[in-house]
Amino acid sequence: MLDILIHNATVVTMEGKGVGIIEDGAVGIKNNKIEVVGLTTEIKKKYSAHQYIDATRKVVMPGLIDAHIHTGISILRGLSQDIGNWMQKGLWPFYKGLTPQESRIGSLVNIIEGVKAGTTTFCDYDHPMGELVKNHVEIGTRARISDMINELPPNMADIAVGDIYPLDSAIGNEKLMENIKLINEWHLKENGRITCLLGPQGPDMVSKELLLEIKYLAEKYDTNIHMHVAQGDREINQMIKRYGKRSIQYLDEIGYLDHRLMAVHLTEATKEETQLLAKRGASMILCSGSIGIIDGMVPPMAEFLEVSSRAALGSDQAPGNNCNNMFNEMKFTAILNKCKAKNPEVFPAWKVLRLATIDGAKAIGLGDEIGSIKEGKKADLIIINFDKPNLSPIILSPIRNIVPNLVYAANGNEVETVIIDGKIIMEEGKLLTVDENKAVLELHKAAERVANRAVEDVKRLEIPLLQMMKEGYL
Ligand SMILES: [Zn+2]
Repeated sequence: MLDILIHNATVVTMEGKGVGIIEDGAVGIKNNKIEVVGLTTEIKKKYSAHQYIDATRKVVMPGLIDAHIHTGISILRGLSQDIGNWMQKGLWPFYKGLTPQESRIGSLVNIIEGVKAGTTTFCDYDHPMGELVKNHVEIGTRARISDMINELPPNMADIAVGDIYPLDSAIGNEKLMENIKLINEWHLKENGRITCLLGPQGPDMVSKELLLEIKYLAEKYDTNIHMHVAQGDREINQMIKRYGKRSIQYLDEIGYLDHRLMAVHLTEATKEETQLLAKRGASMILCSGSIGIIDGMVPPMAEFLEVSSRAALGSDQAPGNNCNNMFNEMKFTAILNKCKAKNPEVFPAWKVLRLATIDGAKAIGLGDEIGSIKEGKKADLIIINFDKPNLSPIILSPIRNIVPNLVYAANGNEVETVIIDGKIIMEEGKLLTVDENKAVLELHKAAERVANRAVEDVKRLEIPLLQMMKEGYL
């Protein structure tokens, strides 16, 4: 007896080398796993279930993977875009006084945003993760978490742009301890839904000694390292000033480029650097929306994919992206890369869909557990209603239009049902585990406090968006 049987569906399994579509398919779930996948007629002959979901004119596919997100700063959504140096000249005045409670209130709504748009796995990379992880537990999401480790002083906004960061090993040690505490308390908890990584913020923000200690710990705990790498000219400038070399050469020399490294952005990496990283077995996480908005650039994913398929997509951060929706990321990734290459044939829809599902799962080290609909894998699935103007009509012959429309036409709000670890988290667009309206109202109130606290700093630091507002553009 199955727990749930989804039938009459177009199942996009993401198995095989493409997208593995089964027309008139069915998926059976028992406990937290996928028990059976196949044709509706055959599965219904053999199985019965406690609960049936009729998915006529609907698509069932693996839940999407957001391989890089900072949910803890989402309370600052929309406060840092359309400017140069978004971090020091946008984010810091608001970020520096953020309390753990405020971060958690923002993170809750941010995760809700992702789930409603079909994200089931979040590589959440932020501080204080010991607080934020409670949101993943409450909502029921799969999370691969790390506490962000750096050796930066709290007053970063006061450091002149271009000055070398003053690294403080006492701060670094304290932050490393929090990441270790996180691993000890949460790794493999909640039926294995929560797993922990190590999270150095970037090679420019952590000393060599601390980076090496983190590497040692990744081996000890047999886990991955989630890190920003070559994330803009800010980082490269710091690396040249401090070590006389660029990020990827430096990381190669200290033995950092291997299968444990999940390298985020690579915005400033050259083709040679990107392909060296790929050859060494590290994975690349591309955040198209975030880097497009905050840097005006398209990172070298095409170059990476010439060598390796260990690649994933991430939505990054809400202050400057400004949304955390993987349908958005898929569309941005395809369009920006086609424009960069001046070639409509690159980054086809099927490939981009793989980045957000099965290839992404492999890139974050969960390829055996999630990312495709296969017997024995964890039951992380979404059901998408194609009875929507933007997803109509469905055409199955002579050519199927399902996958191109998933990538280029869907907005995420067509996701109707979300199942994570065999549990229905969202049904008919409504979250079952948390009160969405209450969470949003609480966020508005908390954000008002955060904004009030930043007033003096925003004026003192002559934040560019303040000037834009005075001139009537905001
Ligand atoms: Zn990031």
